[in-house]
Amino acid sequence: MNNEKQIYDTLIIGSGPAGLTASIYNARSSLKTVVISGNQPGGQLTITTLVDNYPGFPNGVGGVKLMIDMQQQAKNLGVEIKQGMVKLISLSDSQPVRLFKVELENGEILEARSVIVTTGAAVKWLDLPKEKELIGHGISGCATCDGMFFRGKTVAVVGGGDTACEEAAFLSKICEKVYLIHRRDELRASIAEQKKVLNNPKVEIWWNSEVVELNPNNQNPSIPNKLENIKIKNNKTGEEKILNLDGLFVAIGSSPATKFLEGIVDLSETGQVFVGKNKEHITMTSMEGIFAAGDCVNIKHKQAIVAAGEGCRAALDTESWLSSL
Ligand SMILES: Cc1cc2nc3c(=O)[nH]c(=O)nc-3n(C[C@H](O)[C@H](O)[C@H](O)COP(=O)(O)OP(=O)(O)OC[C@H]3O[C@@H](n4cnc5c(N)ncnc54)[C@H](O)[C@@H]3O)c2cc1C
Repeated sequence: MNNEKQIYDTLIIGSGPAGLTASIYNARSSLKTVVISGNQPGGQLTITTLVDNYPGFPNGVGGVKLMIDMQQQAKNLGVEIKQGMVKLISLSDSQPVRLFKVELENGEILEARSVIVTTGAAVKWLDLPKEKELIGHGISGCATCDGMFFRGKTVAVVGGGDTACEEAAFLSKICEKVYLIHRRDELRASIAEQKKVLNNPKVEIWWNSEVVELNPNNQNPSIPNKLENIKIKNNKTGEEKILNLDGLFVAIGSSPATKFLEGIVDLSETGQVFVGKNKEHITMTSMEGIFAAGDCVNIKHKQAIVAAGEGCRAALDTESWLSSL
């Protein structure tokens, strides 16, 4: 086994749009760059079918294709892509250069002068039978991404927080009818977000209600399963109802994949990485030399183009920070 240690200029954690874009920029700045791809190489877009809102693709592009191409672009520029999950980051005691020691779950330890965290945030799904197979076939975790596929149709949003209200209000501009299904008798969203749905003639709120069943239309086995209706249970009365739908948007939150950063960089209560304090390097976290971008960060818009843009910013910040040392 070759024990000689490589020292990377930048180690990027995550291989979604943020991580791969950062790697492309870093490689083009001649920084020795490695991407740790995590257990979802390509990130969240690899579980969607058509991406219709990424510029440059007049007919949309498959999520998997987009990410394979991004990865190939990075590799062509000399980026090393390593499979594995990061378990721990610490500061190594190497002198005179301050280095980050990054430990993977398989025990491998890598050293880098800077780190960019782009670990994304997983949508919280309902965890009901048939849900997985219906994602992309009537079930979505993102109205901005998929709302247009339901123009003029009937949809429901599950949730009662800011995201759920915002998604319901957004969908009400496109869809014929929007049900908002919430398990409590009041919304958790801010007053401003609540206003967008409470007086909206296209939005009907079902209070104290939970989705208990997802039913696909599989009458014709040659057509992939598609959501046809859902069963809703009133958790006060126990009454159950079937609601016919074209689409269901799950908006009950997301979990940033940042547990391994606890105690290393400042995180919000929900685990989002805080950036923005350092005005010169806006993507720097509370730990000098660790940058972050994409869905794992405390930014509002969780979109591939935003993640890619922030990844670019993190790479440019890293480059200028490294050259200031
Ligand atoms: C079903 C679905 C459909 C969507 N459709 C669209 C759309 O049409 N248009 C659009 O703009 N956006 C869409 N989005 C949102 C978009 O996918 C995200 O905004 C975007 O992928 C975020 O990019 P990211 O690079 O920040 O993170 P992600 O894409 O989430 O990538 C995170 C990466 O981090 C890795 N990782 C996590 N933890 C670790 C660890 N400990 N060590 C190493 N690696 C790790 C993962 O393996 C993954 O590679 C969709 C999302 C979903 C779920």
